[in-house]
Amino acid sequence: MMKNLLHRVLSFFFPHSCVSCGVRTDEARYTHLCPGCAEYLAASGAVIQSPCVKCSAPAYTDTPGLCYDCSIGAFSFTRNTSMLSYKNPVIRDMVLSFKFESDKLTGRDLAGLLEAPIRDFFSTRQFDLITSIPLSRQSLKARGYNQVDYILDRLNIPHTGLLERKEHPTHQSRLSQKERRESVRGQFPLIPGARPLIRDKKILLIDDIFTTGSTVEEGTVTLLAGGAREIEILTFFRA
Ligand SMILES: [Zn+2]
Ligand SMILES: [Zn+2]
Repeated sequence: MMKNLLHRVLSFFFPHSCVSCGVRTDEARYTHLCPGCAEYLAASGAVIQSPCVKCSAPAYTDTPGLCYDCSIGAFSFTRNTSMLSYKNPVIRDMVLSFKFESDKLTGRDLAGLLEAPIRDFFSTRQFDLITSIPLSRQSLKARGYNQVDYILDRLNIPHTGLLERKEHPTHQSRLSQKERRESVRGQFPLIPGARPLIRDKKILLIDDIFTTGSTVEEGTVTLLAGGAREIEILTFFRA
């Protein structure tokens, strides 16, 4: 928290300070990550350890290969594949800066980190349609871009808008998993005209961070109810 505040203050006065440690560095002219943090990231990696085969949860429990949520059948999508671990502190700082501070330069760096694992993912899979979790109109206006679509566009991955997002008064991070699931119910209706497009299709739904899975689960439920055949999830980061 302190570090975050310090970082905010530093980045206000020194726009080329590192998004993770706040140090000012001239070498950060073309990136918002200092060489030290870049080195840490390269050395630590952001690989998800022992991922659940269904949802990419970082570790599993009694049921071999499956996390608790998946062992009780919590999700309607076929599987979620997450690219990098959000538990890596440098990744987390980069994502926060990109997502909430309009730091597109860091978005570009994240796209660079995601490029190889995403290419790998697509090399073994086929989908009829690719879509993303949208922002509400209000958030899109405030932020100026959808962070998921920004990365997909940078990686030249074609995607179709299929879902809308209703405004939501509650901050999800303060809710329990069950409350989160309830709070997003009905939040992602199909856009007008999407129904004939999705009928009997295998769709890849993409979001930035998989935390409890309630957002992508709700998107899945909408798409399946609308006539889609199968939903698979890709998330850039796994909390
Ligand atoms: Zn740094
Ligand atoms: Zn799981």
